[in-house]
Amino acid sequence: MSDSIVIIGAGIAGLSAGCYGQMNGYRTQIFELHDKPGGLCTSWKRNRYTFDGCIHWLVGSRPGSGFNRVWQELGAVQGRHMIDHDEFARIEGQDGKAWVVYTDIDRLEAHMKTLAPGDAAVTEEFCQAARRFARFSETMDMVTEPAGLIDRISMGARVLPHIGALRKYGRMSIQAFAARFRDPFMREAFATLFDLPDFPMLAMLMTIGWMHNRDAGYPIGGSLAFAQAIERRYLDLGGKINYRSRVEKILVEDVPGTDDRQQARAVGVRLSDGSEHRANAVISAADGRATIFDMLGRRFINDEIRGYYEELPIFQPMVQVSLGVARDLSDEPHAVIYPLTEPITVAGKVHRRLAFRHLCYDPSMAPAGKSVIIVGFESDYDFWKDLGQERERYDAEKQQVAIAVIDHLEGRLPGITGQIEAVDVATPMTTERYTGNWQGSIEGWLITTRTVNMMMGRGMSKTLPGLRDFYMAGQWVEPGGGLPSAALSGRKAIQMVCKCAGKPFQAQLP
Ligand SMILES: Cc1cc2nc3c(=O)[nH]c(=O)nc-3n(C[C@H](O)[C@H](O)[C@H](O)COP(=O)(O)OP(=O)(O)OC[C@H]3O[C@@H](n4cnc5c(N)ncnc54)[C@H](O)[C@@H]3O)c2cc1C
Repeated sequence: MSDSIVIIGAGIAGLSAGCYGQMNGYRTQIFELHDKPGGLCTSWKRNRYTFDGCIHWLVGSRPGSGFNRVWQELGAVQGRHMIDHDEFARIEGQDGKAWVVYTDIDRLEAHMKTLAPGDAAVTEEFCQAARRFARFSETMDMVTEPAGLIDRISMGARVLPHIGALRKYGRMSIQAFAARFRDPFMREAFATLFDLPDFPMLAMLMTIGWMHNRDAGYPIGGSLAFAQAIERRYLDLGGKINYRSRVEKILVEDVPGTDDRQQARAVGVRLSDGSEHRANAVISAADGRATIFDMLGRRFINDEIRGYYEELPIFQPMVQVSLGVARDLSDEPHAVIYPLTEPITVAGKVHRRLAFRHLCYDPSMAPAGKSVIIVGFESDYDFWKDLGQERERYDAEKQQVAIAVIDHLEGRLPGITGQIEAVDVATPMTTERYTGNWQGSIEGWLITTRTVNMMMGRGMSKTLPGLRDFYMAGQWVEPGGGLPSAALSGRKAIQMVCKCAGKPFQAQLP
């Protein structure tokens, strides 16, 4: 039986694998390249302001909901106040119109019908589908593995009534649905909320459904505090985390296979300082490409896995401009996308809208009476990679982006320029440096109408061909990424370890 496990990465997936490993009697240790837990789920401080880099909404935030139990087991939500917004976001038009995306579906429907009375039928279809997925997520237990035939039948019976809708909206892009609105403002606003290429309607409907159920709230304290709670749980369970420890290589040994092929097994890791750490099993919860192509030197790969890395689209990286301002913005809507009178050029790309958030709903983010503003743009990795070769040019571009954003915000929030007390610009290079994610991707594989079946079907393999005692967890084996998938995949990795050892998996609350 494998009783020691090395885990690569202390993001949410790695921490989750560590917690469940400890709960199941394994001696685990995590090697993390950064000096703190969380990976992408992080925040950072500048001059008494906390700039959050991740959580907008946390699926499973409501006690008793389908996913909440995992967060409870990981000690992430106990005693943590959740904010459920009445407005998901507000999309504004040139002529002063605004689509307020209310999280209550009835209110959303009434508002959309007032905004675009000629589109009542499309609005009704949209809201009915959102209600269906709200009900669907209430009945689904995303956590319990079906134990036998009865469980599988009962799960099938719960999914069956929704199969048609899952297929329909999984294959329909948001852009295609938006094109059905006759009202020009509504058509454009609808396509703007999730402005991602070929992004399925299903993802939008599920998100609105979760918010309607008050099960996708924001945890007060933000992303780093959330990750630190799971780190605490892991340490309390007896786990060990080694920070500033970059894994360079996964150690493998050849063993005779059960068939004619030589099989290998993972036996530990080598760090960049040359030290080796052996274990009975290895779980990589780090970047998928770095794991397969670098740490394992491309040895354990087949056409299917190569195909993922050659063909599948990823969530593009972002530039995040964070500002600390001596002004209370709590009367402003917390998330707005608005059109610019003059377009803004960021990293060589022209943007005609600005997506602006303030975090006043979380008093821990800024001193009393002050606010944090976050503006994000999807950005080109190669542009920043090239600039990153020359520190001066890179810094100058960051400064330029900050100046341009502040100039534009001044038009909307007059006087803001003089109230700024902290400025930070994080680029795709920042994300890559601190988390090792391929091209600074913010969420791994992008779900599209073509790949949605992979998410709903059998999913991506968590093991590699020809390699035993090795498992993968995290956003690079869970298309669509996100915190719940990361946590669940760490749990799944330990379920697989237990299954291989022939022992029942167990999970406890703290
Ligand atoms: C701006 C932004 C907003 C987001 N908003 C949300 C949201 O609202 N809700 C939501 O659910 N999700 C959101 N996400 C997505 C979510 O943050 C990620 O999908 C999730 O955190 C991924 O977790 P992970 O553990 O799989 O990967 P990661 O967080 O990438 O963790 C991998 C860890 O491995 C470490 N590592 C990498 N290479 C090595 C190595 N060689 N040696 C040692 N350690 C290594 C990294 O440092 C990192 O700590 C957002 C992400 C971003 C960036």
